[in-house]
Amino acid sequence: MTKAVLITGGSRGIGRASARLLGARGWRVGVNYARNVAAAQATVAEVEHAGGRAVAIEGDVANEADVIAMFDTLQQKFGRIDALVNNAGIVAPSSALADMDLARLKRVFDVNVLGAYLCAREAARRMSTDRGGAGGVIVNISSAAARLGSPNEYVDYAGSKGAVDTMTLGLAKELGPRGVRVNAVRPGLIDTEIHASGGKPERAAQLGATTPLGRPGSADEVAETIVWLMSDAASYVTGALIDVSGGR
Ligand code: NAP
Repeated sequence: MTKAVLITGGSRGIGRASARLLGARGWRVGVNYARNVAAAQATVAEVEHAGGRAVAIEGDVANEADVIAMFDTLQQKFGRIDALVNNAGIVAPSSALADMDLARLKRVFDVNVLGAYLCAREAARRMSTDRGGAGGVIVNISSAAARLGSPNEYVDYAGSKGAVDTMTLGLAKELGPRGVRVNAVRPGLIDTEIHASGGKPERAAQLGATTPLGRPGSADEVAETIVWLMSDAASYVTGALIDVSGGR
């Protein structure tokens, strides 16, 4: 039976690379996006070109009604749900905490924490064996920032990813007996558009050069770990926080 996954923020960056790799493994992929429909449609085409099936699903992970509708759409389209890649996340422009306004703090925590929790909750409701589900896998996308703290750049973002790590530890214990494995991937400096959205398009290249491996990582390199965690090859792995950070 072909499995189905919802990838939040699946239209660009790490989400898109994961969608493409899962397509090549024959998965059916829900490509969630917030605004950029053209990028989502391009990703759907890439997944299908790679051998999978895909559907673009609009929705803001910070909006409960959107999240429920996203999961409903995936299940209506493909008849099942076997995995969640809890990937959608944002940064705001680099700043000291003293200069951050309330609206910025709220949005970072709404998307990165509340959004991740709402999506994990929906996945738990639908995949847990004690609720009629068939079991499954959740991969939360955290960040090396959770252990680095990101001073003078975005301590808000770093803290939001700390929450994702802690959710991963708790949920792995909660859902393990219910047939669902839960892990987190903590990327380091990865070459995607998220750095430009924070006002520093050269950030990954510049800081990546200072890491032990001497370069930024690619979204494809992160996707490899995400897809491995989703596979039966990782069948005894749950509650793990896995760094894909070039040694940073
Ligand atoms: P990206 O290139 O900026 O892509 C972000 C994706 O998330 C897009 O598909 C975007 O959709 C979607 N998105 C944004 N806000 C959303 C919302 N409220 N609801 C639903 N979708 C939303 O980011 P990325 O670098 O691939 O990052 C992916 C994840 O990895 C994030 O959680 C990020 O924190 C984490 N991470 C990244 C790095 C890095 O260096 N790149 C390092 C550590 C951790 P639209 O196109 O519609 O906006």
